[in-house]
Amino acid sequence: MKRYSAFAIAREAFRFHSGWERAWRSPTPKAEYDVVIVGAGGHGLATAYYLAKNHGITNVAVLEKGWLGGGNTGRNTTIIRSNYLQDESAAIFELSRSLYEGLSQELNYNIMFSPRGVMMLAQTEHELRAWKRTAHANRLAGIKSEMLTPERIKEIVPIIEINGPRYPVLGGLWQARGGTARHDAVAWGYARGASDRGVDIIQQCEVTGIDQTGGKVTGVQTSKGAIKCKQLCVVVAGSSGILADMAGFRLPIESMSLQALVSEPIKPVLDCVIMANTVHGYMSQSDKGELVIGGGSDGFNNYTQRGSFHHIEETVRALIETFPIISRLKQLRQWGGIVDMTGDRSPIIGKTPLEGMFINCGWGTGGFKSIPGSGWATAEMLADGEPRDLAAPFTMDRFTQGRMIDESVAAAVAH
Ligand SMILES: Cc1cc2nc3c(=O)[nH]c(=O)nc-3n(C[C@H](O)[C@H](O)[C@H](O)COP(=O)(O)OP(=O)(O)OC[C@H]3O[C@@H](n4cnc5c(N)ncnc54)[C@H](O)[C@@H]3O)c2cc1C
Repeated sequence: MKRYSAFAIAREAFRFHSGWERAWRSPTPKAEYDVVIVGAGGHGLATAYYLAKNHGITNVAVLEKGWLGGGNTGRNTTIIRSNYLQDESAAIFELSRSLYEGLSQELNYNIMFSPRGVMMLAQTEHELRAWKRTAHANRLAGIKSEMLTPERIKEIVPIIEINGPRYPVLGGLWQARGGTARHDAVAWGYARGASDRGVDIIQQCEVTGIDQTGGKVTGVQTSKGAIKCKQLCVVVAGSSGILADMAGFRLPIESMSLQALVSEPIKPVLDCVIMANTVHGYMSQSDKGELVIGGGSDGFNNYTQRGSFHHIEETVRALIETFPIISRLKQLRQWGGIVDMTGDRSPIIGKTPLEGMFINCGWGTGGFKSIPGSGWATAEMLADGEPRDLAAPFTMDRFTQGRMIDESVAAAVAH
């Protein structure tokens, strides 16, 4: 693979950009692989990349029913932070955040990581106490986050109304090293890096069945024919229940649509990410000037990738209370993704009842930020055949053992 550099851009400018290679190969699937990963979202692609890079396992295929990054990875609002409450979550999200800091250099691909700071507002006394507790927990876990006064919040975010009529701003939890990245670029960068190391990424290849003999996985049926494998790793977010059904077991997952919208572009007014959990909305400003606004998930299970109209109204109405200046902005577009929600709002990484089949799912509304850490931990699990350190707490049996990792506050609207 040719490296991207200032020199390469100058060289190509002189030859009318005729020398660029395709960023990743489009191979015909082989009959058999050591590892088949289903789902070319960020998590599947990062898993493939770290399998090849950290463990030297390259006889790997990533099968994608649509186009790579076309699921939730290309539909999210790109918030990156690690200020979670529980130690297990803080560990994997902080590894992820720190990997994001050097990811453009690691992948030789500009993922546009922008550590602009993430602010989580407290607009009730209860919320203020909850964020203080999180700040203390973060400090114990070695994660830098701090509480801010309303006056300091107003300095950082001049467009905020801190004396709002229903919910005045009482304080905020601030993670200065959190931020955003370009979501497509994360998928494309990992795809390019994995493909360069020999991983086959096969798009337009839907897995329609899972083959097994004597309780052990032997391969998959796909829209491009049967493919055998020694290990199968399913990383399909909102479609996880469908794949589990193919293998003959059920998952403690509910799938529902989560939506977001963007406003028309305006001049820079907001240079951090801001979340208002009580009124239920959050916002950042894209490089193009659009306000990227996210709200809640549908209150019922569905696979629509669209979202309900009343959510747009509720989200915008909520945010206008705290940011009155957005009231006359026009909405440019809206979309949805299918998120996979567990009961404790923490992910599942681990083995399944079918021997040789592993799963990574349940990141729900907050799995963009965890892509590097999750890929790292899942690759380690596949290489060892067992979930290790980072992944070990997130196995599925925690739901039968009552060993929940409760992140329902950290993962509410605060993606
Ligand atoms: C509106 C919205 C806002 C969000 N905001 C944030 C945020 O700000 N910060 C954050 O951290 N997270 C956020 N998230 C969550 C985040 O996007 C997801 O947790 C994350 O992208 C999941 O990545 P993934 O790789 O597991 O899944 P996906 O990116 O969904 O990839 C799964 C892939 O599997 C493929 N697939 C499914 N079935 C099959 C099959 N049978 N055969 C082959 N391929 C199949 C799909 O086509 C898809 O490409 C948001 C999500 C949404 C929808």
